[in-house]
Amino acid sequence: MIDLSPFLARVSDDPLTLAFEEEKKVMPSLARMRPQMPQWEGGTFAEFAPEAFMARPESPLALYVHVPYCHHHCTFCPFYINQTKKDWSQAYARLLLKEIADTAHVLRDVIHKREVNVVYFGGGTPSDLEKDDLAAVIRSLRETFRFAADAEVTVEGRTTGFTPEKGQAWAAAGANRFSLGVQSANTRLRKKLGRLSSREQVGETLNGLCDSGATVVIDLLYGLPGQDVPLLLDDIRYLSEETPVHGLDLYELRRFPDSPLDKAINRGKMPPIPELADKARMFGAAYQRLADYGFEHFSPKHWRRDGKERSLYNRLARAQTDMIPFGSAGGGRLGAIGLGMARDIKTYTEMVEQGEKPLSRIAISPLAAEEGGFSYVLDESLEILRLPSLREWPASHQEAGEKLLAQWHEAGLILPQDDECGASLTCAGHFWSGRMKKLLLDLVAIPTAA
Ligand code: SF4
Repeated sequence: MIDLSPFLARVSDDPLTLAFEEEKKVMPSLARMRPQMPQWEGGTFAEFAPEAFMARPESPLALYVHVPYCHHHCTFCPFYINQTKKDWSQAYARLLLKEIADTAHVLRDVIHKREVNVVYFGGGTPSDLEKDDLAAVIRSLRETFRFAADAEVTVEGRTTGFTPEKGQAWAAAGANRFSLGVQSANTRLRKKLGRLSSREQVGETLNGLCDSGATVVIDLLYGLPGQDVPLLLDDIRYLSEETPVHGLDLYELRRFPDSPLDKAINRGKMPPIPELADKARMFGAAYQRLADYGFEHFSPKHWRRDGKERSLYNRLARAQTDMIPFGSAGGGRLGAIGLGMARDIKTYTEMVEQGEKPLSRIAISPLAAEEGGFSYVLDESLEILRLPSLREWPASHQEAGEKLLAQWHEAGLILPQDDECGASLTCAGHFWSGRMKKLLLDLVAIPTAA
């Protein structure tokens, strides 16, 4: 019999702010309970890639291109690696073109046996690449691989320097979705985050990019220092009323130790991060206001105005789809083989120039492991805003799961279980979904006699 007490939510009339304690101690995380993965002994990329590429021929295929350069370091960001400098764009695009050609040569016997469904240019700041440089890379991928007719091709970026001319050129080359990290449309808050452009410039950029015909989506953050519910709702009002963006992603700010933001808060140069209850109120208010503006909540962090926005990359990435990585510091997988690219730009450059796939880490990932099975089901289900039905749970934990889900329903986190479809999350459930996922994984990791 499993003791469910560490997994229960508090029953109250305000589940959004009170369902769980902020510092609630839970069971050891699943990651710590996983066995160490064995060292890779499967040969070089050229040796294993063609067979691995064909291991799941019917499943979707993604290409991920990383651009680890930024104009400067935004205060909140843990992903900054290299600063842009003179002629970096042309030099980096040249390396990407060579890496694409060399990868295609390795895969030459199988490359056209699968369709590419998704391409994602992430970073860093891909939109800082020069117009013709990124256009050449997009064209090269389209000419090298076989693309599905409805393939989603996204370029990530930020509003500063993402000109309408770049949008037009990249759309003409084959990009059809632009994802911009706006974070906040409040000029004062943006400056504190290290964002250079004003609210009006953000609006101009978004309107200009929408004219390219591509889908335009933005990221917003909640839980920023000095942010409150009225500020966040004013961002949503501005972006909904003054721009035609097709989708909006809402993320909670994470404070990373030793980031510029962390240091500024510690030195008293920025206000503290809002308390968890205040963040919950921001999420709840935004959730309601987006619905009022007609946005559809269609995946955990994503809202859209119409079906033009599919957020296919995020869906496939969560589903552990096959993803061939390109560029320094990127990552991907082929079946159960995880692929990590050289993070150091000098190492990356040398390996590409020598004609090697610039991988720094190859490992068997836990895709096929037993606990990974439920993790996968859980991710797929959360992706459509539900918890999995009990029959998708490990048989050994269904009895405990039934009791826990009944309690979470009583606590206002989920709607009643449906035998076929599982349980939909409430607004509070969406806010707490990360905690709930971790609790469920910890629960099914507990050994039972069954
Ligand atoms: S938020 Fe984007 S642009 Fe800013 S440092 Fe991070 S990766 Fe670079």
